[in-house]
Amino acid sequence: MKDLYIDFDGVIYNSIDVSYKIAEEEHVNKDYESYYQFFKNLDWCGVLEKSEEINNAFNCIKKIIDSKKFNVFILTHVVSLKEAELKVELVRKHIKNVTIIPVPKRLSKAEMVRIKDAILVDDYPENLREWQKAGGIGVRFDLDMDGKGFPVIDKLDELIEMF
Ligand SMILES: [Mg+2]
Repeated sequence: MKDLYIDFDGVIYNSIDVSYKIAEEEHVNKDYESYYQFFKNLDWCGVLEKSEEINNAFNCIKKIIDSKKFNVFILTHVVSLKEAELKVELVRKHIKNVTIIPVPKRLSKAEMVRIKDAILVDDYPENLREWQKAGGIGVRFDLDMDGKGFPVIDKLDELIEMF
């Protein structure tokens, strides 16, 4: 069985679109530190309420688990502990038997887990580049099917056929 790590924002839930829209409305500067502070103080409860599941993601993850081809983990960047709590609560409402790993935003996902031959599904190409550099396999999730140099999917259960 291959280790499979699945991103949350922009893959399972469209929370990233919702939070960037709020940042735009609040005229947050487009540099890393301004965004970091914005996300630190963001009302994640409100963001998750306004966000939606992407392409039946939770059901797809259940199918992936049932395929018995992968050890499945959700690997999600967080800025605050509150954000981590709310994401775990949300995932648990849908899936009981999946491991959720919150990654402090200032660390790379590639620094958190054993990567050799593990798959990362992520919408953010930089995460995939770091992952690949560390010996893992990157798959981009993109609704426009733009892989940016990586194999690409727009629905999570496509992974079952891909590997
Ligand atoms: Mg993401």
